[in-house]
Amino acid sequence: MSDDGDDYCANDAAGPPPAGGPPYADCVLCQEPTEYPESYKGITLCPRCEWQEAQRTACSG
Ligand SMILES: [Zn+2]
Repeated sequence: MSDDGDDYCANDAAGPPPAGGPPYADCVLCQEPTEYPESYKGITLCPRCEWQEAQRTACSG
């Protein structure tokens, strides 16, 4: 990942905010580093847990 400042080409609505670089917050589920900045207020999930949560909440029914 390049770290050249303004990178607002977010095409994923569910993606994390631009962290700009470490330190990253830990995943609340597995303590893996996430793509969220440490100052992020809210639940921080690593991509893997985020995907699992998305599967869980995306109840097709
Ligand atoms: Zn995780």
